[in-house]
Amino acid sequence: MVFEKTGTRLVLRDVPKPKSGSGQLLVRVNACAVCRTDLHIVDGELPDPKLPLILGHQIVGRVEQIGANTGGFSMGDRVGIPWLGWTDGDCAYCRSNRENLCDRAKFTGYNIDGGYAEFTVADARYCFHLPDEYNDVDAAPLLCAGMLGYRSYRKTGDARRLGIYGFGNAAHLIAQVARYQKKEIYAFTRPGDKVGQESARSLGAVWSGGSDEMPPEKLDAAIIFAPVGALVPIALRALAKGGIHMSDIPSFPYVDLWQERAITSVANLTRRDGEEFLKIAPRVPVKTKVETFSLEEANTALEKFRAGKLDGNAVLKVSS
Ligand SMILES: [Zn+2]
Ligand SMILES: [Zn+2]
Repeated sequence: MVFEKTGTRLVLRDVPKPKSGSGQLLVRVNACAVCRTDLHIVDGELPDPKLPLILGHQIVGRVEQIGANTGGFSMGDRVGIPWLGWTDGDCAYCRSNRENLCDRAKFTGYNIDGGYAEFTVADARYCFHLPDEYNDVDAAPLLCAGMLGYRSYRKTGDARRLGIYGFGNAAHLIAQVARYQKKEIYAFTRPGDKVGQESARSLGAVWSGGSDEMPPEKLDAAIIFAPVGALVPIALRALAKGGIHMSDIPSFPYVDLWQERAITSVANLTRRDGEEFLKIAPRVPVKTKVETFSLEEANTALEKFRAGKLDGNAVLKVSS
C-alpha cells in the first residue's frame, strides 16, 4: 500500500520487489502494526516524508535474502523491524548513547519504506530477534507501542506510585510491566470513560478515574501518553515532590512545577530500549490486544484508529 501525498488514501500498487544491499536484510512481511505516527505522516504533520512511501514501522517477517557484510541473522530467521531504521553512528548524540536523537537518523515507514507491503528491506543492525512466545501478529505492537512505552516507563525510575494519563496501546502494554515490577498504577482516562477505567482496573491499576479527578494519593511520577498538552499542569498537581513526566505544554503557574517536579519527553528509541523490553515482555508476560486487517484494508485500519474505534492495536496481517 503506497502513500503518495498528504491528504490522500493509500493506494494498492504493484511495486518492484526490493533487494537487500550491503548490511541489509530482505524481509518477507508477515504482520505490521499500525501506529499513531502513521496517521501523523498521512496527515502531513511530520515534515518531508519520503514520497511515494510505504508506511509501517512495527514489522514482523522472515529473512529471505541477506546482503553482503550483514551479521546477526540467518535465512528464514524471524525478525522485528522498528521505527529507528538507521543512524550515522558518529554524531554527538550517537557517541553519547543517544542514537534516538541522531541528527541524521532515518526512520522506517517515514524516510525508508516500511511494512505495509509484502516485502521490505532493513538495515540488519537495527532489527530485533523476537521472543518465541509471541506469534507474528501479537509481536508486532511490541515494536513501537511497547518499546516506546517502555522507554517512557524507564524514565520514571523507581517511582512507586505511577500515574498513567491516556490509557491507549502503549499504556496497556506498559501497565503490565509496571504491575510485574510491583508498581502501583493510577490510570487516568477521558472524564466519563467508564469502559477505559474498567479496562485499566482489570490490568491491575489500583485506582482509575477521569483526568479531571485527583488520585487518592500523591503520585511519584506520571507518564502522559495522551497527546493533550493541557494534561501537563493537571498531572503536575497530582505529583508528590520530585516526579517526572512528558507531553506538549500550555502555560501554567510556576507553583505547579515548584519543589523539583520535572518534565521530560521521550523521542524515538535506542536499540538498547528495544532489547531490554523484548527480554522483559515474555517474562511478565505482556499480552497484546490486537485487531487484524488484511494489507488491502490498511485505509480502514487507519480510519478506525483515527476515529478511536479500534479494540486494541491494529495489525495488518500480510501473510502467514
Ligand atoms: Zn510508532
Ligand atoms: Zn548520529
